[in-house]
Amino acid sequence: MKFDEFEKRIKTSNLQTFSIGKSALGQEILACHIGKSEGKQVLIQAGIHAREYITSLLALVQAERLQGTDLPFGVYFVFCSNPDGVSVVLDGFSTLKEKERVFCVERGFEHKLFKANANLVDLNTNFDALWGQGASNIKTPNFENYIGESPESEVETRNLVNFTKEIRPALTLSYHTKGEVVYFGFDTQSEKSLRRDEILGRKISDALGFPLLRSFSSCGGYKDWAVDKLDIPSFTIEFGKNSLSHPIGEEHLGEIEKNSKNLFEALEFCLEELDKL
Ligand SMILES: [Zn+2]
Repeated sequence: MKFDEFEKRIKTSNLQTFSIGKSALGQEILACHIGKSEGKQVLIQAGIHAREYITSLLALVQAERLQGTDLPFGVYFVFCSNPDGVSVVLDGFSTLKEKERVFCVERGFEHKLFKANANLVDLNTNFDALWGQGASNIKTPNFENYIGESPESEVETRNLVNFTKEIRPALTLSYHTKGEVVYFGFDTQSEKSLRRDEILGRKISDALGFPLLRSFSSCGGYKDWAVDKLDIPSFTIEFGKNSLSHPIGEEHLGEIEKNSKNLFEALEFCLEELDKL
């Protein structure tokens, strides 16, 4: 798949899309809303790690399937939080500006394994949540794990932050690959809030058939920020069997989607349960 086709899928779907802002190279970050506009909302963001672009296609298929159903809550899908990075994975380093292109080529990076944005920042380490304290964080530009010059230094990060503050979701999901695991929890979380997320996370993990794990030493991620700054129950879902290699190809989309078919029922339960917790 080339980036053109990837983009066309999102743009030509029969979903009503809108932009939550632009990427570093000026691409629109597209989203859509499905279900009820009133009441509790869920925010699902995918494709923040470039090589995990299969998650963007998953979000798209889920939105298409949910459209027209009688969903008792609302879902905002942000299909691809990092379009410049996905361009690199699908079309190569020539999609970057000269300086970054040369940097990547000279170091012998593999474009298919690229996770970062066009400034070589790993967006899922760039949020303001114990920024720079993650176990795998690095302080210089790279195809992965570089935290950026400061928290929210990247426009894609700020787009997600601003959009989240605007819509104030009751729950957020971040789609990643791989390993078939659901993560919850953040180091700064109170016992009460942690307990809440464990209960909700258990429901999500049961629906997917993936184990629920507490995340440790992962800092600066979107989930981490949403928990740390807004106390929103937030979960990272790693789709795709661990035996698959990055990037997971489209031929696996059908199976990944099938395995996630009970997710939205679990979300309904979570939103109802939230009032009691
Ligand atoms: Zn990821």
